[in-house]
Amino acid sequence: MDYEAVIGLETHVQLKTQSKMWCGCANEFGADPNTHVCPVCLGMPGVLPVANQEALRLTVLTGLLLQCQIPRHAKFDRKNYFYPDVAKNYQITQYDKPSTSQGVLEFECLGRIERVRITRAHLEEDVAKNFHFGRESGVDFNRAGVPLLEIVSEPDLRSADMAHAYLTALTELLVQGGISDCDMEKGMVRCDVNVSVRPVGTTALGAKIEIKNMNTFSGVRRALDYEIPRQIAAVQRGEALRQETRRWDDDAGITEPMRSKEHAHDYRYFPDPDLLPFEPDDAWLADIQKRVVELPLARKQRFMRDYDLPAGDAEVFKSNRPLGDFFASAAAGAKHPKSVANWVINNLAAKLNETHTPLANLKFGPSAVGELVGLVEAGRISSKIAQEVFADMFETGRSPSEIVAAKGLAQVSDASAIEALCDQAIASNPGPAQDFRDGKVAALNFLKGQVMKLSKGKANPALVGEWLEKKLRA
Ligand SMILES: [Zn+2]
Repeated sequence: MDYEAVIGLETHVQLKTQSKMWCGCANEFGADPNTHVCPVCLGMPGVLPVANQEALRLTVLTGLLLQCQIPRHAKFDRKNYFYPDVAKNYQITQYDKPSTSQGVLEFECLGRIERVRITRAHLEEDVAKNFHFGRESGVDFNRAGVPLLEIVSEPDLRSADMAHAYLTALTELLVQGGISDCDMEKGMVRCDVNVSVRPVGTTALGAKIEIKNMNTFSGVRRALDYEIPRQIAAVQRGEALRQETRRWDDDAGITEPMRSKEHAHDYRYFPDPDLLPFEPDDAWLADIQKRVVELPLARKQRFMRDYDLPAGDAEVFKSNRPLGDFFASAAAGAKHPKSVANWVINNLAAKLNETHTPLANLKFGPSAVGELVGLVEAGRISSKIAQEVFADMFETGRSPSEIVAAKGLAQVSDASAIEALCDQAIASNPGPAQDFRDGKVAALNFLKGQVMKLSKGKANPALVGEWLEKKLRA
């Protein structure tokens, strides 16, 4: 019997806000322990939370980017549990009335467009971080109360690759949408993986195993590559899998049991009496709508369609949005947008990388690249000379035409000038000239190279070829 994996992901993402969710403490990674704390995020009795408005906006914006429904009534609940990472003994979250629900994320995986339904994206708060040193432990509350979005997918994922592609696409969307920096090294993205297996063709879900607190996407992929075959083997042996939480041991490359799965009622959720329901109105939603960016996949498809670009180029302009915008301006009115794309990717992006120059500091605008490509296509300069012009543009910011004129780089198409150069090349290279006359066609390229050298790369190569043949065959 063949088995398939059924995977759902719960992705936690720290929102990009200046301050924490319920207090004015800075939302900043890397500060000394317990320096961004106050009575609110330390859970002192008698304090009152005040909702961070930008976090509410980013939550709804995420919902719009994931094509979710945005209910006009949402609320906050307390998830009660006792652990040192939560001083007030509950985490504020959204339980049965989240701010967004029923969305979808489309993304590419192994050349196919996949579509995964999003159950909900709800707002909650991050908890403190525990550190263990030898026989002692410490708690850093800087992270406590940082706004955290939990994005829950339906169990629509079927493989480790697909889970990896989903996470990559989701975080790309969140970064481009200005929701989160999604810096994995700073722990801004963490993920719980739910996975079960079932015979292909059946619809009942198997016992759900949860792998907690994954903090790299490659870890998620490796954990699933281990866990899926483990479950299939167990089922094939006739073992009954039970719902449990497992831990991924990255060094050993295995998952191991952590605890049997808790149920929602263990948390005794109830509405937080300190917080008003969240009820966005039309005007508020319209403001958020203005912040919606083009979805990365749609952007890639648009670049392929509108500019006739291959998938690889469009992928670059999808991932690097500013570079893509630069290209679009440069290609406006271009005869061959692909040539412009080549320049932007192979020359401009490479040079920016090499010199660690941000695109914003570039000394010329997109139209200059369009102009440069136009000069090559019109035969005014050769592509070799274009490299020289480009290097000058990068240094000085002068326009391509200005550089060509100032340096006398215009391609020589003047017949008498080219004829003279051909005569000179033939006279100084009697051997190759004779070779060509004897039928060695390749000798022509050598002579052509000599003419180009004599002209300092400025002779029109097509005309040089024509003139040489004409002379040698005379
Ligand atoms: Zn605080």
